[in-house]
Amino acid sequence: MYRYNDFDEAFVRNRVAEFREQVRRRIDGSLTEDEFKPLRLKNGLYLQLHAYMLRVAIPYGTLNSRQMRQLALIAERFDKGYGHFTTRQNIQFNWPRLKDVPDILELLADVEMHSIQTSGNCIRNVTADHFAGAAADEIEDPRPTAELVRQWSTDHPEFQYLPRKFKIAVSGSPNDRAVTKANDIGLRMVRNEAGEPGYEVIVGGGLGRTPMIGKTVREFLPKDDLLPYLEAILQVYNLSGRRDNKYKARIKILVHETGLDELKARIEDAFERQKRAFPGVPADLIRQIEEAFAPPEFENTQSLAYEQAQADNPAFRSFVETNVAEHRNPAYGIVTVSLKPIGGTPGDATAEQMRVLADLAERYGHDELRVSHEQNIILPHVRKADVPTVYAALGEAGLATANIGLLSDIIACPGMDYCSLATARSIPVAQAISKRFDELNLEREIGPLKIKISGCINACGHHHVGHIGILGLDKAGRENYQITLGGDGTESATIGERTGPGFDAEDIVPAIEAIIEAYLALREDASETFLEAYRRLGAEPFKQAIYGENGDKARAA
Ligand code: SF4
Repeated sequence: MYRYNDFDEAFVRNRVAEFREQVRRRIDGSLTEDEFKPLRLKNGLYLQLHAYMLRVAIPYGTLNSRQMRQLALIAERFDKGYGHFTTRQNIQFNWPRLKDVPDILELLADVEMHSIQTSGNCIRNVTADHFAGAAADEIEDPRPTAELVRQWSTDHPEFQYLPRKFKIAVSGSPNDRAVTKANDIGLRMVRNEAGEPGYEVIVGGGLGRTPMIGKTVREFLPKDDLLPYLEAILQVYNLSGRRDNKYKARIKILVHETGLDELKARIEDAFERQKRAFPGVPADLIRQIEEAFAPPEFENTQSLAYEQAQADNPAFRSFVETNVAEHRNPAYGIVTVSLKPIGGTPGDATAEQMRVLADLAERYGHDELRVSHEQNIILPHVRKADVPTVYAALGEAGLATANIGLLSDIIACPGMDYCSLATARSIPVAQAISKRFDELNLEREIGPLKIKISGCINACGHHHVGHIGILGLDKAGRENYQITLGGDGTESATIGERTGPGFDAEDIVPAIEAIIEAYLALREDASETFLEAYRRLGAEPFKQAIYGENGDKARAA
C-alpha cells in the first residue's frame, strides 16, 4: 500500500497542529460554534444529534494491521469502544469529546491517516473495488488509479469550494463492486481493441433527492490522460454547476440540465486546453505508486485442509459459500468478514474485533484489510489452507456470520440514532428485519438479496440501488418507511421503483415479509434471484402482496 513521504507527513502534522489551536479557541470561547463550524468540517468533524462525530478517511478502503489497531485504540480510549464503517469506505467515531479530537488526529497521523476532505464541498475520499488486487475477474488493480486521484485531489487549490461535495469511485473489473454509476465520476477500467488498459468515464451518477445513474462521457480514456480529463470535468462543473440551490448543485443536475452531448463538448474542449498545459504525470511517480501496490508473494500451496473442513463442517461450508470469493490465485480466497451479525448494527466493530481482524490480517492475510462500501471488512489474500483457522478465530470474536450477499447483509445508514439530518431510524429496522428472517430460517432459501436502508432522502444507505430499498421519512411526526424495488448498484445499475405509500414502523417488517413470500411463490425455480424475478414480473405482483389485490391497503394508508 501507499506510504507517506516527508511532504505528506509534514502536511498532515501541520493540519493537526492548526486544528489543535482552533479547538483550543473554541473551548475557551474565542470562537463561536458558527465560526468554528467551517474549521471543524475541514477536518471531518461533524456535530450530530447527541455528540460530535469524526469521519476518518480510509482511501479506497485499504488498511494495514497497524492502522486497524490504531483505530481500535481510538475507539477504546476516546469513544465508546467501537467504530462505524460507512458506505464510503470510511470509519466514523460517534462519541469523541471535542477536547480529544486533536489527540485522535495525532494518533491517526502516526499511522498515515487523517480526516481531511471527509466533509465539505470538495473531492471526498476516493473509493474503489474492495476486492482490488485480489479479484479473479480483475483487468487491473484500480488502487494505483485511486491513489493517483487521491494525491491529485488532496488540497487541490482549484477544487476546495465546489458547488457541492464530489465523489469518485474506481473499479478494475467488469463486475462493478464500486457502484461507479452512482458516483459523480465513476472510472471503470476497460481495454481497447488493441488490448491497452484505459477507463470508461461515467459522469453524473448519484443518489439522494434526485437519484440518477451516471452516463458515459468517454468510452475509452487512455490511462495517461486521466488527470487532465478529470481536471477538465471538475473545471466545467466548478464553473457551471449550480450554486443557487443546494439541492440542484451536484454534477448529476448539470448533466441533466445541460444535456450529455453539450456537456461532453465542454469537457472535451477543457480537456484539449488542459492537456496542452499539463504534459502528464511523471513516469517515475506512476511507477512508485504502482510499486506500492505490487501484489504480495503468493505461494502455491495445497488446500486439502480447506476441502476437508468443508466436508466435515456444514457451518464452515456455509461460510465458504457466502463469505469466500474467488481469488486470482487459486490457492487463495478473498474472505469477507460480515459486520452484520443477526440483530447487530450494520457496520459497527468493537475495538476488540478490530484487533482480532488486525491480527488475522498480519498472520494470514499479507497484512491487508479492506473496508467495503457494503460495510463489511475484507481479508483479501488468505491461503485457502488457512481459511479454517481464520474462520475459527472469527467465530470466537463474533465475526463469523455467514451472510454475505444474503438478506441480513443489510446496508443501513446511522439514521436517527446518530444523524442530525435523519427523519427516521434505520438501524432498528435493519435489526428487526434480520431477526425476523433468522426466526423464519429462510435466508439461504431466498438467496442473493440486497436490502438497503436510509434514514432520510440523502440516501447514504444507498436505498435507491437496493433490490429492496427502504427510505425512512417523517410523516406527521411518525416514522414512515417507503419501499423501492428493483434497484441495482452493479454494472447493470438501476434506480429502484417506489411501490406506493409508505408503512409505519411496526408494519415495515411484515411488508418486507410479504414481498419475499411473493418472490418465493412466483420465482421460476431456486436459481432465479429476487432481482431476476422482479425484472421478469415487474412491480405489480409485489405491490399486490403489500397493498392487497385491489390496492386497498394503499388507499387506506
Ligand atoms: S441518509 Fe440521511 S439519516 Fe442517513 S446518514 Fe445520510 S444524512 Fe443521515
